[in-house]
Amino acid sequence: MQYRMLGNTGKKVSALGFGAMRLPKDRDYAIECIRRCLDLGANTIDTAFGYHRGESEVIVGEAIADRARGDVYLSTKNPLRDNTGAGWRERLETQLKKLNTDYIDFYQAVHGLSWDKYVDNFSKPGAGLEEAIKAKQEGTIRHFGFSTHDSPEGIQKLIDTGHFEHIILQYNLLDRKNEEVIAYAHEKGVGIMVMGPVGGGRLAAPSQQIREMLPGGAKSSAEIALRFVLANPGVSCALSGMNAIEQVEENVATASREDPLSDEEKLHVMQSLEENRKLAELYCTDCKYCMPCPNDVNIPLNFRIMNFHRVFGLTDHAKQQYARFFAEKKRVEGLAASECQECGECEPQCPQDIPIIKQLKETHEALGDSREKG
Ligand code: SF4
Ligand code: SF4
Repeated sequence: MQYRMLGNTGKKVSALGFGAMRLPKDRDYAIECIRRCLDLGANTIDTAFGYHRGESEVIVGEAIADRARGDVYLSTKNPLRDNTGAGWRERLETQLKKLNTDYIDFYQAVHGLSWDKYVDNFSKPGAGLEEAIKAKQEGTIRHFGFSTHDSPEGIQKLIDTGHFEHIILQYNLLDRKNEEVIAYAHEKGVGIMVMGPVGGGRLAAPSQQIREMLPGGAKSSAEIALRFVLANPGVSCALSGMNAIEQVEENVATASREDPLSDEEKLHVMQSLEENRKLAELYCTDCKYCMPCPNDVNIPLNFRIMNFHRVFGLTDHAKQQYARFFAEKKRVEGLAASECQECGECEPQCPQDIPIIKQLKETHEALGDSREKG
């Protein structure tokens, strides 16, 4: 296992951390997975108040009960449910009990912090920030930071407050928007832990296109995804959600390589990514000029999903995403490609001259289930 300094905290974290978000349903097996990961050299586990229906912290607490507390770094997150310091402290106390510990190493003082939430809530007098500073002085939390889905600009402003020692943010082969802010954090001594290094499981799906991004090919797309993230010198730890022993073992083997990617491999990956980006844009740039569709078809989203299949070869993932349009409890905006009524209103608006009607048909043919309307 490789170990890296987490910003200026003085703590060396394992390059692979156990993300305890989606644990296996079987509790004993979940504990076994966490312990296997620790036995193979990982020293960092990340959880949160609400993960695994609120049970994740309890399971993590049980998993580490058989080892010295000093051998493991615990990271967890405080959900911003109100704007009082007392409420914030109450949640911290609950988490300490759930984790069965008297301190937390890396505390994400806000789960999903944005610059707006910082200004309007967390940093107000009597709110969470004052309490976090106190908790750190007491030693109840050793270091504090935040997790975030904010824009890179928002994240940079949060770094500039000077309060935070580490950040958990999203970064992977398919989502590189935080690359510059990772470099900025690195320069400022703020440690970065990455969530979703394998794209929330997307990149764990088999894909020849992704495997071939490495000269000579990689063993799996998950391997290359993880190596890509760890090749970034600003990243200290990739927090991967793992729910099988084999996955733990494969990821540990990847995170144990001394050189995540050689210069030649990195160049090759970057060139492939650039080609893929161009290919994706040839299809659809997500400019949304074609919207709104009078029949509520979400044209750019349908094409974005189609690109997982035709550009990245992630067909299973693309099918799962497309099926969400037809789910009973629908969590996606707008309708599927199959709902296009061929009115033709959208096509003249498209700067890419995409034959939208034809491509929507292709999308449904490639990703739709024969039971779905089409
Ligand atoms: S052609 Fe289809 S997608 Fe385009 S505006 Fe009409 S119904 Fe919507
Ligand atoms: S106008 Fe064309 S490129 Fe822009 S989102 Fe619609 S289909 Fe994609």
